[in-house]
Amino acid sequence: MLFFSDKCPHCGIKGSKVEKDILHYHVKDISKIGDGGYSFCSHPACDVVYFSGNDVFTTSMINKELGCKESSSDQAILCYCYNYLKSELFDETLIEKINIRMNHYGCRCDRRNPSGKSCLGEIKQLQKKCDDDKLIEISD
Ligand SMILES: [Zn+2]
Repeated sequence: MLFFSDKCPHCGIKGSKVEKDILHYHVKDISKIGDGGYSFCSHPACDVVYFSGNDVFTTSMINKELGCKESSSDQAILCYCYNYLKSELFDETLIEKINIRMNHYGCRCDRRNPSGKSCLGEIKQLQKKCDDDKLIEISD
């Protein structure tokens, strides 16, 4: 019996299933895309982006830098529809600005964002996580 795990083989955290089209948009070498279903690993400290069983695509195999991964630079993208960068994460009006653009032009996160989901959830999570890290640093 074939067992399909939705847990990332690297960090063990549950991934979210992504459409195969998403991989064709974001991975560098599309000939490496296998037949199985793929999931996206959103864990910031994990270098895996897509996995299918033990078959993985890591950050260096993706055609852009992912703002949601800790290893990426400040020039990595947070919002793939409107090109907001990781360096803008602490702009307090970032979410508001993206919302305004989305209201006017809509969004294509389902294709442009490597996770296949809206970037707003990821940005809020990153902002919250960094706030938590800061609190930890202060209390040390
Ligand atoms: Zn992972």
